[in-house]
Amino acid sequence: MVKLTRRQIVRQAAGLFFTLTPITSALAARRASGPAQFVAVRIWPANAYTRVTVESTRALRYQHFALENPNRLVLDIQGAQINTVLQGISKKVLPDDPFIRSIRAGQNTPNTVRIVIDLKQSVHPQVFSLAPVSSFKNRLVIDLYPQGVDANDPMMALLNGDRPRSAGTTTRRQVEQQRQTPNRPRQPEPDYTLPPQTRSGSRRPVIMLDPGHGGEDPGAIGRSGLREKNVVLSVARETKRRLESMGYTVYMTRNEDVFIPLNIRVAKARARRADVFVSIHADAFTSPSARGTGVYILNTRGATSAAAKFLAQTQNNADAIGGVPSSGNRHVDNAILDMTQTATMRDSRRLGNSVLTELGKLNKLHKGRVDEANFAVLRAPDIPSILVETAFISNPTEEQLLASVSFRSRCADSIATGIQKYINTAVLRR
Ligand SMILES: [Zn+2]
Repeated sequence: MVKLTRRQIVRQAAGLFFTLTPITSALAARRASGPAQFVAVRIWPANAYTRVTVESTRALRYQHFALENPNRLVLDIQGAQINTVLQGISKKVLPDDPFIRSIRAGQNTPNTVRIVIDLKQSVHPQVFSLAPVSSFKNRLVIDLYPQGVDANDPMMALLNGDRPRSAGTTTRRQVEQQRQTPNRPRQPEPDYTLPPQTRSGSRRPVIMLDPGHGGEDPGAIGRSGLREKNVVLSVARETKRRLESMGYTVYMTRNEDVFIPLNIRVAKARARRADVFVSIHADAFTSPSARGTGVYILNTRGATSAAAKFLAQTQNNADAIGGVPSSGNRHVDNAILDMTQTATMRDSRRLGNSVLTELGKLNKLHKGRVDEANFAVLRAPDIPSILVETAFISNPTEEQLLASVSFRSRCADSIATGIQKYINTAVLRR
């Protein structure tokens, strides 16, 4: 008997959305140069989950569903023909894999390849695809989490757009709307970002703006009742307009009054493969006399703990660590991540200096230099990230500034110009 939970149904609908949108282009491409070829399969048991990766020459259309007694996960890949590479998947299961008892692939219908995973326990699967990167081609990824573990579900939050609702509240209609929006990305593209040094020079720079706080988290509140969450959203929207007129692709972690967890903000930047991440805030202090604009980057302690966490999460991720292909060797991976992170911290400082210089033309600076702090939102190991404190909302004079349209507008000008100058020199450097 197929028994699906509400969540699984939503996930299937979501999977359908991912796989249906590219049909037209996929058909056109197939006519041009043949069906997808399976080129590699990998199975990596990690502490928290086991990842199954199917690599192919073209993006795959797929559906998955669960079966019970015994527990199985079934994945149907449409428009594909089995080959020896995919058949070899059955030999890749390690006997001590915590989730997979066995796995097999076969031609289920003339047009459908079926992969059946026999499970040792009931699982919470996350199935998604990754676009080609580096030496990797298209990948279909099946992550098997223990039942009840949701891994904070950043994937569903991304899929749901800016408002991180629970998956259960995504309606069929919302999925339909997403499917019909032509400019919506086909996949969340989670899990990796190309490090700056290997990015293609022809791609338009992508900037992720992160207005702090939102929803039930108002941020700091000024004497007059001015709320940080509203100020920074308006500054971010202005900044987005400026940056777009400069020719950049710009996304925002939120574009409405909604609460977004910090890890989701970082996940969004990575999913969009952002080149630059700028979090926008207004400062507050117990003394109302504190004032001035500031820019923060991640400190070394924060970077070190983020690296440890990141490695722990992705230790056995066969496809990317900070966008760099994993070697499968913990020490090599550590070294690669370390190099990526060192480059990112250097770039963050350059970005911070560039933005601070521009903001210094607008307002007194709280400190004359870029400051360091252990902010969770700055912890992407592969995206230059800064946090801008526009001014002190706790200072009555600066609160007036923050309330004014002209100051917000000039703030946006400064942030955008600072980003632009950073990107221009970064491109020259590459
Ligand atoms: Zn804040």
